[in-house]
Amino acid sequence: MNIPVVEKILSSNDTLADENRAMLDAAGVFGINMMASPGAGKTSLIEMTLQRLGGELRLGVIEGDLATSLDAERAQRAGATAIQINTGGNCHLEAYMIRDALRQLPLSELDLLIVENVGNLVCPANWKLGTHKNILVASIPEGDDKPYKYPGMYRGVEAVVINKVDLLPYVPFRMDYFKQGIEVLNPGVEIFSLSCRTGEGMEAWLTWLKGLRQ
Ligand code: MG
Ligand code: ZN
Repeated sequence: MNIPVVEKILSSNDTLADENRAMLDAAGVFGINMMASPGAGKTSLIEMTLQRLGGELRLGVIEGDLATSLDAERAQRAGATAIQINTGGNCHLEAYMIRDALRQLPLSELDLLIVENVGNLVCPANWKLGTHKNILVASIPEGDDKPYKYPGMYRGVEAVVINKVDLLPYVPFRMDYFKQGIEVLNPGVEIFSLSCRTGEGMEAWLTWLKGLRQ
């Protein structure tokens, strides 16, 4: 039988993702895969989350965003144990990269692990990492048509964070239209509207995150 190369690569990725999940479960760590387009505010959301939850949960961060270690440094400053992955220009994270990072993290000392995927709305959702939940961070300046343009990303997530809601008065963005697009693709998915800049809406997001571990 001739299995296409892409399928083979994806299935070996899935095997490694299962191993990653087993490592996390054995250590009692809940893992989140955070995806978004560049500039949606993944790192800011991670920073805010660390600042607000750092006293209650022991947090780890794996930074996969391209090129620099700036995001890992920001996460470390905010109080997390952070590892930067060098994706070598790759446009998404893969399970083997997470496994290498997991081996460097003190998993037994962590409760929650947030993985910041590469900023890209096309392929990250196709690659399982072994984390427990997929989160998509959208933002008001990106426009209200994103669920219609990138259905694959919106289908594959357990929660959508709509960031930068403080910009709603200044940017044409139909919230109803945006949410309808999400609802068609992913009925009942958790949606959080918040602003990392002003802090509005953060409470519901943090409560949901804390509840995941129970
Ligand atoms: Mg970032
Ligand atoms: Zn990719």
